[in-house]
Amino acid sequence: MNLWQEYKRPTTVADAVKSLAAASGPALPIAGGTDLLLDLKQGNHSPVHTLVDLTFIPEMSALELRGDELFIGAAVPVNRVALDPLTAAHAQALVEACNLIAGPQVRNTATLGGNVAHALPAADGTIALTALDAQAEVAGVSGSRRMPFTSLFLGPGKSAIDKTKEIIVGFYLARSIPHSASCFKRIMRPQGVALPILNCAVWLERAGDIVKDIHIAVGPGGSTPFRATEAESTLREKPLTEETFANALDVLLGQAKFRTSARRASADYRRHIVGGLFKDVLDTAWKRAE
Ligand SMILES: Cc1cc2nc3c(=O)[nH]c(=O)nc-3n(C[C@H](O)[C@H](O)[C@H](O)COP(=O)(O)OP(=O)(O)OC[C@H]3O[C@@H](n4cnc5c(N)ncnc54)[C@H](O)[C@@H]3O)c2cc1C
Repeated sequence: MNLWQEYKRPTTVADAVKSLAAASGPALPIAGGTDLLLDLKQGNHSPVHTLVDLTFIPEMSALELRGDELFIGAAVPVNRVALDPLTAAHAQALVEACNLIAGPQVRNTATLGGNVAHALPAADGTIALTALDAQAEVAGVSGSRRMPFTSLFLGPGKSAIDKTKEIIVGFYLARSIPHSASCFKRIMRPQGVALPILNCAVWLERAGDIVKDIHIAVGPGGSTPFRATEAESTLREKPLTEETFANALDVLLGQAKFRTSARRASADYRRHIVGGLFKDVLDTAWKRAE
């Protein structure tokens, strides 16, 4: 049995959303296919009539500076995100996350947009983009709009964008500023297992010994990619000491809703190990921002 009936290869964003709208049966975008094709083959996805391939759209494969921002097209493979000098300069946490996704073959094909659109609360690229406070450009037939990153998610595997009508075009990140830095790390079983036991990303700006600003993301720390906003507030405008860290960790543990995953870890185990991972990531970003 065919997994789909029609396969479209638009070369513009406008044609891609038109192809979704004009399909004569259920339609979805496809990028690297590393999630979607497996789901279709294994019967874990409802049948699809039309697949709209996003990888022939130049706008969605761009990775470039635009004014004060870095733009990363949603169809850029995660391996390219990991190797590009612009991401190294402006989004170190994202480089580290993309370098840890799966193995080289999957990284060459899997895209950053697919990682986000799949809406898993511990997807590595997604957690890095959460800490980097990205904005997403989303296009539909009536035009495109920017969305704050965390508003893209409704629940595990549930995107807030209607993928039968809309696509994520790309992501905007603020350019790096002096005395700011980011870091991503994860605790995992051997490489090639799909998702981590726990991951964490921090972006921060320091003013001498003071945390001027900070964003903290932990996956899976809830049903959607988790931003530890309350822990961020306890650290902002404070020195980074054992005491302020301990307080931030307490607050993070109060806000996070750790989940038990069948194959990866229990919620209790995640609560137990998050402090060490958070400290490691925070200390690394802190030193980098010196
Ligand atoms: C062996 C293996 C190991 C893996 N390891 C990891 C890992 O360690 N960490 C991790 O985070 N992930 C991992 N993954 C998951 C996967 O590789 C990523 O989620 C990948 O980035 C998905 O991108 P894709 O381009 O292949 O998406 P696709 O499979 O093409 O699409 C995924 C979903 O997103 C939709 N979609 C794709 N692009 C867009 C867009 N621009 N706009 C709107 N909707 C879109 C599709 O319709 C589909 O619903 C692994 C997968 C495999 C097979």
